[in-house]
Amino acid sequence: MSSVQMLLVVLLLLYLSEFVVWVRPDVWFFRRRGRGWEVVARGGIFTTPRGSLHWVYPIPVLSRAYLVPVHLPYTGQFPSASGEPSSVRDPVDAIERQRQRVEKAFQPLRWASWGLMTLTWIAAPILLQFLGIGPMLYAVVPGLVLLMVSNAWGLYRVHRRLFPASDDERLRLVLSACLSPLAAIRSVDLAQKEAVAGFHPLAVAAALPGFHGWEAIAAEEWRRLKYSESTDPPVKSMAHPAPPAEDSATMGEIEALAQHRGINTANWDKAPEREDPANSQYCPRCRSQFTRQAVTCHDCRRSTLLPFPEGP
Ligand SMILES: [Zn+2]
Repeated sequence: MSSVQMLLVVLLLLYLSEFVVWVRPDVWFFRRRGRGWEVVARGGIFTTPRGSLHWVYPIPVLSRAYLVPVHLPYTGQFPSASGEPSSVRDPVDAIERQRQRVEKAFQPLRWASWGLMTLTWIAAPILLQFLGIGPMLYAVVPGLVLLMVSNAWGLYRVHRRLFPASDDERLRLVLSACLSPLAAIRSVDLAQKEAVAGFHPLAVAAALPGFHGWEAIAAEEWRRLKYSESTDPPVKSMAHPAPPAEDSATMGEIEALAQHRGINTANWDKAPEREDPANSQYCPRCRSQFTRQAVTCHDCRRSTLLPFPEGP
């Protein structure tokens, strides 16, 4: 391998390292998949109890991803990312508007992103091959500097207007975009990661075009809210303690979203198909199946199991 090829490989690895995202466990991570979107809850390149590392497509526009925290109360009134209350009642509509607003504001920076991409991955290698490193740097560096400076300045201005409270995030974003052309290529998509952070993740999933597997994650979340992970000893008379008011409200919102999508939520609470005839109980929260001896669910630590309904 020649030194030029070696340099390109190192550059490529550095470039790819810009396209991984660290996700905390209390955050839903939405990324592009094919023409649509998906949410990534588990797995990843690397996982620890404090978070996990996930990849995004290493191309501007397709590398856009959203981080949506789950701890925010979901009450039907949705703050926009800039903190002002939104008057739009339909969350799906509000999310789509907010996403479009942020995307449009950052639109002009796309040119800098594609310009940097062309200089780094097309112009620089060709010039390096034919002219050598000195003349290549003479030709490419002024263009890189010009694009990086205008990108960083635009990034600072648009980010300050859209997310005035995120000072630290803005500083980090602009600094890294100033220091490396590879980080600058990624910066315009990275700047939008909190565009829909004030909304409930399931509403975000419902709003993203071509989202994969909405019903499965909605049903899972709905059951998680309905059947709490109780550490108390099971009380016979209270096999179905009512979920707290806040959870009930969220369940109502999830049902409304499902109905809007033409999904029948009655199936979400039905017993799962028996995987083994020996299984006589199941966990209503995570749907794991158990034999007669089990008393608690070892998957989600729920302390009350339900018997499978008798019948054919
Ligand atoms: Zn369970």
